[in-house]
Amino acid sequence: MWLIPAVIVVLVLLLVHAGSRGPAARTLTYSDFVHDVTANDISSAVITSTGLVTGKLHSGTAYTSQLPTALGDTTLSSLLLEHHVQVTGTNPSTTSILSIVVDLLPLLLIVGAVVWFVRRSRKQSPGGIGGIMSIGRSKAKVYDEERPTTRFTDIAGYEGSKAEVMEVVDFLKHPQRYARAGAIGPKGVLMVGPPGTGKTLLARAVAGEAGVPFFALSGSSFVEMFVGVGASRVRGLFVDARKRSPSIIFIDEIDAIGGRRGPGGFGSNDEREQTLNQLLSDMDGFEPGASVVVMAATNRAEILDTALLRPGRFDRTVEIPLPNLSERAAILSIHGRGKEFGPTVDIGAIARGTPGFSGADLANLVNEAAINAVRGHHHILRGADFDAARDRLLIGRRDASNALLPEETHNVAVHEAGHALVAALSEHADPVAKVTILPRGATLGVTEQLPEVERHLYPQSYLTDSLAVRLGGRAAEILVLGEPSTGASNDLAGATDLATRMVREWGFSSELGPIGYGPEGPSRDNPFAGRPYAEETQRSIDQEVARLLRQAESRATTLLQGHRHLLDRVVDLLVERETIDGSDLMALVSLPEPRASAPEDSAGARRSVAPAGRLG
Ligand code: ATP
Repeated sequence: MWLIPAVIVVLVLLLVHAGSRGPAARTLTYSDFVHDVTANDISSAVITSTGLVTGKLHSGTAYTSQLPTALGDTTLSSLLLEHHVQVTGTNPSTTSILSIVVDLLPLLLIVGAVVWFVRRSRKQSPGGIGGIMSIGRSKAKVYDEERPTTRFTDIAGYEGSKAEVMEVVDFLKHPQRYARAGAIGPKGVLMVGPPGTGKTLLARAVAGEAGVPFFALSGSSFVEMFVGVGASRVRGLFVDARKRSPSIIFIDEIDAIGGRRGPGGFGSNDEREQTLNQLLSDMDGFEPGASVVVMAATNRAEILDTALLRPGRFDRTVEIPLPNLSERAAILSIHGRGKEFGPTVDIGAIARGTPGFSGADLANLVNEAAINAVRGHHHILRGADFDAARDRLLIGRRDASNALLPEETHNVAVHEAGHALVAALSEHADPVAKVTILPRGATLGVTEQLPEVERHLYPQSYLTDSLAVRLGGRAAEILVLGEPSTGASNDLAGATDLATRMVREWGFSSELGPIGYGPEGPSRDNPFAGRPYAEETQRSIDQEVARLLRQAESRATTLLQGHRHLLDRVVDLLVERETIDGSDLMALVSLPEPRASAPEDSAGARRSVAPAGRLG
């Protein structure tokens, strides 16, 4: 706080000092000086032992000059006296103390500022060395006063995972019980799962249930450009956590530091390894009395260094997968707390329509639905709000800029009707939930299929039907419009990818037989891996993929040809209504209509179960 008065004092002194030196002096060369003396212009001269001359002209102007002492000029004194110049000799050491202090003041000021800055930043960083001297210290955020209030009841589903971490809560609540029995409590819990599945939430709930401080940070915040910084941060973090023991350290994205150590490396790699080594040694080094549990999250457990996973470190691994159907419903209900749902909201149906959604996605969905309600000027959330929210999250936002031309609308309707009808007529395909030709984001139209229950195995018949459904859009275009369009590019890419996996990985090709190849190309474990089969095999794979796709296309074409009138009706309905749902489609399909026989379709339109799909 003394800095501001100090600055003012310095400025005043500088001004006084500058004032005492009077107006800026003219600098004269020695020749000019001698000339001015001879011309009787010089009134006074103060000459130092080093030959510096200062003084005044008769006009009152100050001047300075420097005598060339090397010349040893002995005539100057007589010249000065001859022209009545007041000569004074002086010694530079007699320069005033004030002027020395003033000259040094800028330097003193800088030093003072640095000291002040260091002290101030120390005060702001409690717990010992801090501020700029602690670049390497922990960035952990201690939720000391505001310990997490999250409880297990805030986490929907995941009963197994909660049961696994229950022991950690027990240990943190009663460390003495473990000490009495001579047991070492859990040291580290690794939570593995895709992003947004609630790993952070679970760690916070453990701290909340146990009522202990929670130190949360991300693995990437350890890794800095400078080698050693991360390691010192880890050290600082553990020192703080032990001081507050019992406590929880939560490290998100542990893979940022905990990846497998390689043979040597430079720069950030070195830094990462040092940080990891420090983490390992700090986890080993807990004193018996200190109850600190490290909880870490990752979605790439396979790349973690095995040293992290050995007993005494992360000795418990909890899998947190994407939520299943009932968990999705429970998560939706939790996030629906405090919101009013209208009678058209069917949580079960929303959960069915959101396979692959994480907890975070579902929380976002409910929030988007609430925002939709606000947009529609009502506060009770309706089924339509959830539909719109889901479409927006999955497909993108609708805007006026992607409005279609009238003939394009018809063509998109043909394409989507093709998908929808092949799906409705295929025995093993998912039921169609919705067909729309309203463009959203980059998508011009969508045919959405939804499973009735969640499946974990997909039979060959299901995948074969799925290929036909994917190619149904293009088949309809060729049939009705006489030519295909670019609209099928995503379908083709998806179908080719699926067919390739059917042949390469799942042994669904009679030509190749029961052979399943793993992923192609180099991997972390095997950086030199190439294609695991011969050139000849690749040719067979390509041929088999092409055969499957051609078969799927001809199956779709046959189905649509056999139900051409139905196809036209679906197209008309789509052009008229823009969006039709599964029941509209099935009502059309089940109408008693003259139908050309299609050998594959002898069972008629049937619904089957399998994962959801969306086709553009
Ligand atoms: P990341 O790996 O991206 O860090 P994460 O797995 O740590 O993600 P969280 O940050 O814990 O995920 O979850 C994000 C949000 O998702 C939570 O704040 C919560 O709103 C919601 N959420 C996730 N899972 C659940 C659940 N099981 N019950 C209730 N809400 C959940």
